[in-house]
Amino acid sequence: MTAGDTIAAVATPPGVGGIGVLRVSGPTVRAVASVLLGDVPAPRHAAFRAFRDAAGREIDRGLAIYFPAPFSFTGEDVLELHAHGSPVVLDMLLARLVQLGARLARPGEFSERAFLNGKIDLAQAEAIADLVNASSEAAARSAARSLAGAFSQEVHELVEALVALRTHVEAAIDFPEEEIDFLADARVRDELAAIRSRLANLTRNARQGALLQAGMTLVLAGAPNAGKSSVLNALAREEAAIVSPTAGTTRDIVRAHIAIDGLPVHVLDTAGLREGGEAIEREGMTRARAAMARADHVLVVLDDNERDHDVASLLSHVPADISRTLLYNKIDLTGRPAGEFVTPAGVALAISAKSGAGLDALRAHLKHRMGYQPAGEGGFIARRRHLDALARAGTHLDLAAEQADQRAGELLAEELRGAQRVLGEITGAFTTEDLLSRIFTSFCIGK
Ligand code: GDP
Repeated sequence: MTAGDTIAAVATPPGVGGIGVLRVSGPTVRAVASVLLGDVPAPRHAAFRAFRDAAGREIDRGLAIYFPAPFSFTGEDVLELHAHGSPVVLDMLLARLVQLGARLARPGEFSERAFLNGKIDLAQAEAIADLVNASSEAAARSAARSLAGAFSQEVHELVEALVALRTHVEAAIDFPEEEIDFLADARVRDELAAIRSRLANLTRNARQGALLQAGMTLVLAGAPNAGKSSVLNALAREEAAIVSPTAGTTRDIVRAHIAIDGLPVHVLDTAGLREGGEAIEREGMTRARAAMARADHVLVVLDDNERDHDVASLLSHVPADISRTLLYNKIDLTGRPAGEFVTPAGVALAISAKSGAGLDALRAHLKHRMGYQPAGEGGFIARRRHLDALARAGTHLDLAAEQADQRAGELLAEELRGAQRVLGEITGAFTTEDLLSRIFTSFCIGK
């Protein structure tokens, strides 16, 4: 099964390297190989060959590996060329491949063909991108497990359980003369409850996986000069933000990407929160509020030297539905013990960005607030799209339970079908063109 034309791309990153890899996939791969290399190498053997231009001149020489369909990544005939990692050489080779009838691959097109040819499902295809883009060891390990099918397998087992239950329900609907009041049968509801709890388990794991994939967005807010930039620097352990003793200098939002025990955290440092100020500062505050509205968590930083904090007024800037923590900074000057303590406004943390006291407690606190537990061996990577599908499946199952209570067999079967359909969106059993193109265009070229 092929997608029609033959595609080619440089699969290694742009720039100079020891080796550069080109990939060609499609129905004319054998023809391309015989002209470019002089022959079609034996399947799955590394063959040392000259790569020749139209005039028969050698562009480069290197390894050529031929993977005949269907035993290739895409499921089509694939040729891999390992040339020297020179952008000029790779460009010449790519131009030669195009001359031989291949077309430049779109981003993610190799993976898309692998999906369309049934070599991998959609969750596995996404795991390839997540593995390539992993920002931590934990994320890479989880992506590798998803790619190996750990996530898909669990989804698949759930779907099978749903199908089995639905078949049972539909059989009972189809043969009413049997007069079995199947819905009075506790087994239907027990099985439904068991599926619901498996789904809840899977959702918990997927949430961890999505955290590893997307990370959390943390906003640092608080009065000017409280030490927001210093806290960001301390967390990032680098001079990511400009730290200045003049109040109101952090006017724009600084972004830093850090990892706390493998969990990616995107930190936004905002302009100081205070009333009035010059126009540019008010603009900064508007942005700060917009950033907080998109945050997973807000750290409200206070200077522990200052005794008359208007905590309520500061907290009023944080959107009501966003979780927040009060962070009392500069305890190296006040002598307050580092770590968590309780205030009338809730749990607070005492730290010193300068001495580093309390930073470990802050990291632990952030992980806890995100509901993060280090992924065990069973962890896998997941995306918001998956979480959304799992949530919708949960809604269908809840409605199914209600229908079971009402003895409404047809409606129960309908909800089970609904749950099955949304779970199928995860693996790609049910997809739309639009979803596929959104997923694969986020890949890089050559993948
Ligand atoms: P921002 O305006 O909230 O971003 O505050 P900055 O990070 O720019 O810090 C304001 C001033 O406080 C700077 O002079 C920092 O060196 C100082 N500062 C920040 N954190 C601490 C701390 O933990 N202890 C002490 N002693 N000074 C700090």
